[in-house]
Amino acid sequence: MKQYELFINGKFIPNGSREMTDVINPATEEVISRVPKATVEDVENAVDAAYEAQKSWAKVPAIERAGYLMELAQLVKDNAEMFAQTNTAEMGKTIAQSRDEAGWLSEYIIYFAQMARHMKGEILPSDRPNENIFMYKMPIGVVAGIMPWNFPLFLIGRKVAPALVAGDTVVLKPSSDSPNGCYEFAKLVEQSSLPPGVINVVSGAGSVVGDSLSKSPKIAMVSMTGSTEAGRKIMATAAQNITKVSLELGGKAPVIVMNDADIDATVEHVFNSRMINCGQVCNAAERVYVQEGVADEFIEKMTKRIEKATYGDPLTKVDMGPMVNKAQAEHVDELVKSAAAEGAKIVCGGKKAKVDGKGFYYEPTLVTGCTHDMTIMREEIFGPALPISTFKTLDEAIEKANDCIYGLTSSIYTQDTDVMLRALNEIHFGETYVNREHFEAFQGFHAGVRQSGIGGDDGEHGLEEFLETHVCYVDYDTKTQGK
Ligand code: NAD
Repeated sequence: MKQYELFINGKFIPNGSREMTDVINPATEEVISRVPKATVEDVENAVDAAYEAQKSWAKVPAIERAGYLMELAQLVKDNAEMFAQTNTAEMGKTIAQSRDEAGWLSEYIIYFAQMARHMKGEILPSDRPNENIFMYKMPIGVVAGIMPWNFPLFLIGRKVAPALVAGDTVVLKPSSDSPNGCYEFAKLVEQSSLPPGVINVVSGAGSVVGDSLSKSPKIAMVSMTGSTEAGRKIMATAAQNITKVSLELGGKAPVIVMNDADIDATVEHVFNSRMINCGQVCNAAERVYVQEGVADEFIEKMTKRIEKATYGDPLTKVDMGPMVNKAQAEHVDELVKSAAAEGAKIVCGGKKAKVDGKGFYYEPTLVTGCTHDMTIMREEIFGPALPISTFKTLDEAIEKANDCIYGLTSSIYTQDTDVMLRALNEIHFGETYVNREHFEAFQGFHAGVRQSGIGGDDGEHGLEEFLETHVCYVDYDTKTQGK
């Protein structure tokens, strides 16, 4: 069984007497690796290493920093199958989706490497004679990258790539449910020519490792992806030093299906938006509002689609593997049961399941007759259960969509451009998809409103998070006197 070690200042640190965490394969329920629980002192060492390394890393020309990123991207590509197998083993994603995710990691690193020549400041006219105002874009410093378990590979890219090209260094903290991919990445960092201390990895509990990172005065930004509950704690802790936070948190994405939607295509898109990664995606379709004229047709076709969905060993060709852990499967079960108790109908699925007597599976589930105030329509499900409600008018649908503590993604299905444009103006979410599945692009800006987060990832706006502005007022008058 693999035993991973903390990666600090370019070296793996022997585990010694550190406490260890078992990592469990959710399909087999077997322990597949052990990772160290970093102590507060370990975290301080990692932060110190990143802090020292950042001083010289910031002086490396951006295009050379991009060269190191390209080297890392190539190493990831060369090891793509190992990453995919690791991902499936530790969090249950189907092997096909894990292969996609390993590909996104290298592509995302390349995307940000290509930004190296595009980071620009500004020169502004001054109110005074003989003066220039320069706005430099500077690296922010040391970034703490706190990660969730649901996209453990891709999230390495989101935390590392923009930071490094910007001139920042990073301390990564993977989730205890899926830390293996991050440690495999650290092995590649060790093999690469990247200077020591630029990327460090420390695992352990959020309440210890994540908390120590969030309160460290040497951390310039906490970039965290995870639940709203943990994000709120991080924000409070980071407030001690007024440390910047960029938080990508939970979602409860509404889907609005209008009477004129292409129902066959919509069913397929909504199915994919709900069931990918066994429903464990922040941008997933979490609640559907169908206009009354097409509700019966939509429900009938969605029932057939969900009944056709396959789940099982994620190394085989199935739509879904297991959920990441037992608690997650129980959470989904509780929400589905609460919906039934509140008067909804479970049309298919609705139970935890085992495959060959093992695994934290949950049946692909459809729940109809939901009302807007039911728990299942308000709390993040984060699993393969789709609740459906109906509506009469667009106003009603938009009102219900917006009446939510979360504000990450949303979607609308219609062939009427007027309806689409009005919805885009009135739906108050960070992202809206029209007539397609929920899935963001590298060049977009993945950012939630309300309790879905603060700050954002991807594209030029995402890179801005990793930079700070240094404004310099330069009076050149004295230099030109008498010349
Ligand atoms: P989580 O909040 O339980 O954990 C996320 C990370 O935060 C982990 O590394 C955890 O150890 C750490 N953490 C927990 N408490 C902490 C504390 N007090 N201080 C510092 N760090 C702490 O989330 P999860 O269960 O791993 O992931 C699922 C959640 O992530 C869902 O809510 C999902 O919507 C969200 N998510 C959001 C996005 C996005 O882009 N908005 C993407 C993926 C997942």
